[in-house]
Amino acid sequence: MKLLQPVMDRVIARNPNQPEFHQAVSEVLETLEPVLEKHPEWMQAGIMDRIVEPERQIMFRVAWVDDNGNVQVNRGFRVQFNSAIGPYKGGIRFHPSVNLSIIKFLGFEQIFKNSLTTLPIGGGKGGSDFDPKGKSDREIMAFCQSFMTELSKHIGADTDVPAGDIGVGGREIGFMYGQYKRLRNEFTGVLTGKGLGWGGSLARTEATGFGLCYFMDEALKAQGKSFKGATTVISGSGNVAIYACQKATELGAKVVAMSDSSGYIYDAEGIDLDLIKEIKEVKRARISEYVKTRTNATFTEGCRGIWTVKCDIALPCATQNEINLESAKTLLANGTWAIGEGANMPSTNEAIAEYLKAGIIFGPAKAANAGGVATSALEMSQNSMRLNWTFEEVDAKLKQIMQSIYKAASEAALEYTGNANNLVAGANIAGFLKVAKAMYAQGIAY
Ligand code: NDP
Repeated sequence: MKLLQPVMDRVIARNPNQPEFHQAVSEVLETLEPVLEKHPEWMQAGIMDRIVEPERQIMFRVAWVDDNGNVQVNRGFRVQFNSAIGPYKGGIRFHPSVNLSIIKFLGFEQIFKNSLTTLPIGGGKGGSDFDPKGKSDREIMAFCQSFMTELSKHIGADTDVPAGDIGVGGREIGFMYGQYKRLRNEFTGVLTGKGLGWGGSLARTEATGFGLCYFMDEALKAQGKSFKGATTVISGSGNVAIYACQKATELGAKVVAMSDSSGYIYDAEGIDLDLIKEIKEVKRARISEYVKTRTNATFTEGCRGIWTVKCDIALPCATQNEINLESAKTLLANGTWAIGEGANMPSTNEAIAEYLKAGIIFGPAKAANAGGVATSALEMSQNSMRLNWTFEEVDAKLKQIMQSIYKAASEAALEYTGNANNLVAGANIAGFLKVAKAMYAQGIAY
């Protein structure tokens, strides 16, 4: 990196102690050098220094009362990163590991992902270090209401439209939406992932996992391969993992392992997805319960071990940096020939370099998991029109969007790197071009 190294140096100096944010920026900048060489006017207009600085960062206190009557205090975040092509859009994460670095890495990636969807949405992300595990429904509601009391001052259907992410599903969106409505007296599409009877879109729940498989299906086809008969390992057992498992199975794959933050299960006969849904979606229990019913399956403690399971296709769908260099090497040594990222930044930059060196089929998160936000944007369209599309209509649009993301990424990869299979560069470049053009056209306030 020559042209953009000074930008990277300034990001590190200005944002100390934000390793995840540095990692996400570095991964993007490393692929954009050939684009900026062609567009010196963008360097002159400070596009790169501007794009790595959020337009607005909001941090706030979230105080709430637990079931024992004790006051608890958490920290809330909303990073409104870039609104060049539309209102800020991105999920809300509730997990004890949440901090500003994590929200900024997610918000930064969201800019390019949202641009790739072809829909008019800018990039943002939010969350809290609140841990929903083990909390009662009343505690979850109290927290969500307190969180939204502050967040409501900064969002709006034409300003910023949050959605779910880790720890935020239909239940949490419901509590937050109720509080927004109570405070603002507006029934408006201010959140996506809403319930079906009150503004939600069919197929939103399935969208990220389904979209991942539609994207990978295109990438596999381009190399004469498919999911048919492919042994597949999926990390996580949350929203993304469950619907990735469903679609991959429908497309002919045999999913043999899944996980949660306590460990992974291996079922040589193929994962029983109904049982996983019952354990994780209904009972909100640990994945280890699976082996009580499926006695031939095994449970192993610890998360990283899942990448030692021999597979053709790996779909990391849990969390950031779950595949490091060592796990990447293990996967490759075991003959894995395709990796598709359902989670955000699940592979370290060293792991990605290893995939590219090996020449396997690799679907990077920005492109491969964009189906969730794309369908959120379709929910926004339906809310604006006061109309509901059928499951089949939304699913068909999702599939078409994922196919067009694959096409845009592979064409940009070919044009700028000479290798249509370098989807890491292709996704970054295709996503960046639209945002850079918009920022340039909209000028700077003197
Ligand atoms: P969920 O909360 O529904 O599920 C998360 C899953 O990952 C759970 O099985 C959880 O285990 C596991 N997990 C979480 N943190 C860790 C950790 N530190 N180590 C190991 N396992 C962990 O979240 P989603 O499925 O919505 O999100 C998963 C990933 O996909 C995230 O990276 C998210 O940003 C990304 N994503 C989500 C989208 C969406 O539409 N939901 C859209 C695009 C990307 P446990 O049950 O033990 O907590």
